[in-house]
Amino acid sequence: MTAKRIYHSVKLERDRCVGCTTCLKKCPMECIRVRNGKARILYELCIDCGVCIQNCPHHAKVAQTDPINSIYRFKHRIALPAPTLYAQFRNLTSVDTVLNALLGLGFSDVFEVARAADIVSATVREMLKTQKVRPLISSACPAVVTLIRLRFPELLPHVADVLSPKELAGRMAKEEYSKAHGVPIEEIGAFFITPCPAKMASIHSDRGSYVDGVIAIQDIYGLLSAQMKQPISEEIKRKRHATWQGVNWANYGGEGAALDNNNVLSVDGIHNVIYVLEEIENGRLNDLDFFEGSSCVGGCVGGPLVFENAFVAKNSLRKLTEHMKEDEKTHPLPPVEPRDDIHLRAPLEPLPGIKLSDNIAEAIAKMERIEALTKTFKGLDCGSCGSPTCRALAEDIVQGRANELDCVFKLKEKVEQLARQMVDLTNL
Ligand code: SF4
Ligand code: SF4
Repeated sequence: MTAKRIYHSVKLERDRCVGCTTCLKKCPMECIRVRNGKARILYELCIDCGVCIQNCPHHAKVAQTDPINSIYRFKHRIALPAPTLYAQFRNLTSVDTVLNALLGLGFSDVFEVARAADIVSATVREMLKTQKVRPLISSACPAVVTLIRLRFPELLPHVADVLSPKELAGRMAKEEYSKAHGVPIEEIGAFFITPCPAKMASIHSDRGSYVDGVIAIQDIYGLLSAQMKQPISEEIKRKRHATWQGVNWANYGGEGAALDNNNVLSVDGIHNVIYVLEEIENGRLNDLDFFEGSSCVGGCVGGPLVFENAFVAKNSLRKLTEHMKEDEKTHPLPPVEPRDDIHLRAPLEPLPGIKLSDNIAEAIAKMERIEALTKTFKGLDCGSCGSPTCRALAEDIVQGRANELDCVFKLKEKVEQLARQMVDLTNL
């Protein structure tokens, strides 16, 4: 069974696009085309990784997220800060400053996503003791999960059947707030503060979400900074806090390290993730216990919607977690228990991508045409035609999205042929 997606966060600002083809060559899904001087996304293949946002020199690729004033759709509003938010601030010694500043932006409460990450880590540690599937694959990065649904559907049984920290935080935040304040869940809105567009796409996916909105870190960084000097409220001091390991999930490798298992592979950057998933698909990593793949280079600190330079953020996070580690020695946090009621909202189904045809005979005929056409191109994958590779151009032609003369070499041949014919005509 396959499912359909209806929403994508990554969009093109058409007026800013100059058709330079930079994004076309960087997109890991080969789903960008440039036609008539403008980029276009084939959304059936897009995983909202944001690589095109990070690479467009003209800022023509953008992420659609929610504005801060959208929180007032709800009577009660809970901020769900990604651990990456803490890494945006240099010399932070406690997360309380950030949590407190969020209250100053109009949120009624805050719930650390890192706290949910602690529970996910404890739960996955248990799963590794009881489940036979190897390797188990992290369900935390939504771009990676969508990639698996599109390109590696046979690996879906490997994806850990556990909510991502974002989703678990949304669910727990509402449950705890509702219980503490005696208000109905429907009146509570949970807003994730995100480093990436994939999280935005994931809350609007076919699978539903416990999160009601997604606000980009870069959109609220300035507002938050202005609130950082406020005295910390007693309410924030009393909160149950995440461990340093939960906060460390912002870094690539942080999720794997929290499993206390040395047979874990952590990989960052979507191209590297694709390579490792191919290895898993080919059965070459069956001896691995767990695979943590982060679409962004460096992990979530390298997301396209952060404010701080990823290297500086990584360093700030290191310093913060060292402080937290010391603090936890003198003020130990209560133990984090695994949970058996935090399964994915629904089983993960494959996504169809782009089909050549619903009719098998027609699809085979098209495939043969694509193979034959591909052989007629130079094989340079230069991208000048507006398709990322020669094969992609062949597919675009067969699917009616391009024509042969989009290839500069074919165009040159055609022009030379016409010139020869003109010379022949004038010699008659
Ligand atoms: S990188 Fe892509 S979106 Fe940006 S200007 Fe070039 S073609 Fe347009
Ligand atoms: S978000 Fe990622 S998959 Fe989608 S068009 Fe951009 S680079 Fe390609």
